[in-house]
Amino acid sequence: MIHKFEVKTNFRTEMVDITRKVEEIVRNSGVNDGIAVIHIPHTTAAVTINENADRDVQRDMTKFMDELVPDKSWFRHSEGNSDSHIKSSLFGCSQTVIIENGRMVLGTWQGIYFCEFDGPRTRKVMVKIM
Ligand code: ZN
Repeated sequence: MIHKFEVKTNFRTEMVDITRKVEEIVRNSGVNDGIAVIHIPHTTAAVTINENADRDVQRDMTKFMDELVPDKSWFRHSEGNSDSHIKSSLFGCSQTVIIENGRMVLGTWQGIYFCEFDGPRTRKVMVKIM
């Protein structure tokens, strides 16, 4: 069974903390020892695990991604969002987290982030517990 939930984003580039939502799915699954795969079924979004203490880390990361991958005039993709596709592939569309004693094994300062690179949109997150 694949668990799904939606994330509404408000900006073109944005990182949304989805840790609690994934935690809830892990808890409800009843799986004690296993893995959780978090998958983003989009080509202009991604998922990453990073610092959850200082919001400025997410601001710095999103600003850096915008500077790292600017919108180039020579991009041929007619939709006009090649930069979003490149950012999505750089971060990747899935993450795997270990489950031990019914809980995700994450570092004290680690959170799971949905990464929007072509918002605002309503997006899907898929979670498979094994
Ligand atoms: Zn496109």
